[in-house]
Amino acid sequence: MPEGHTIHRAARDHEQDLRGQPVRISSPQGRFDAEAVAGPEGEARLLRVEACGKHLFYFFEGEQIVHVHLGLFGKFKRRRSPAPEPRPTTRMRLEGAKWTIDLVGPTACELLTDEEMGELMARLGPDPLRDDADPAAFYRYTARSRAPIGAILMDQSRIAGVGNVYRAEVLHLEGIHPDTPGSKVPAEKLQALWLLIVGLLRRGVEEKRIVTTRGLTLEKPRERVSRSESFHVYGRKECRSCGGEVVRYMLRARSVYVCEACQPRVEDGEG
Ligand SMILES: [Zn+2]
Repeated sequence: MPEGHTIHRAARDHEQDLRGQPVRISSPQGRFDAEAVAGPEGEARLLRVEACGKHLFYFFEGEQIVHVHLGLFGKFKRRRSPAPEPRPTTRMRLEGAKWTIDLVGPTACELLTDEEMGELMARLGPDPLRDDADPAAFYRYTARSRAPIGAILMDQSRIAGVGNVYRAEVLHLEGIHPDTPGSKVPAEKLQALWLLIVGLLRRGVEEKRIVTTRGLTLEKPRERVSRSESFHVYGRKECRSCGGEVVRYMLRARSVYVCEACQPRVEDGEG
């Protein structure tokens, strides 16, 4: 599933490609009511694109907001205009003067009112990639939660935008076992974790991929950094930090990776 950096990058790219111009909106698949946004002429001016967590919001003139959530299988495809015929599975096509963006397989692609968008946003935790993010609620909840920190990081209502790869990597970099109850993560560790997530997600937006290993990109061009070199524990058998064994197990139905030498287990005592 795309993580927050992919979504924020899409918002930035789509704004650059389509902002301020009339955009032809269609749904070749027919499962999105394009006419509700674009009217009978089939086009509307795109004002801006905003990302929050894993959600995208396209603001069109006439106070129309299109909400997109890629989910597990959703993908964008960007082509020069005029683009070839869309695939019949294309949920939404946005066609600007220079660029055409096709959306295939999203979990959500729908028109929202301002209120509905507000309700959706209210259900999301702070997004480390947004300038207006306030981590206070995330700190407060975690400090009194017995839920494992590995689960809290994936809970979009507590912190928005972190997915499986960042989860595994940031916990490793801070030496925290994913099973550690939130309340057992010291306050300064939790703050360090937030700052690390902010830094790594921003880097992900710039580089359009997740690389959590330090220094590597100085040694060779980043496009030659392979996937297994990009991470310390995620998807690995051997810990990149200490060479020890990486354990993979399921935490609330998603794989988590941990090196128990670097990330010692903390027992949940009383309190
Ligand atoms: Zn290790």
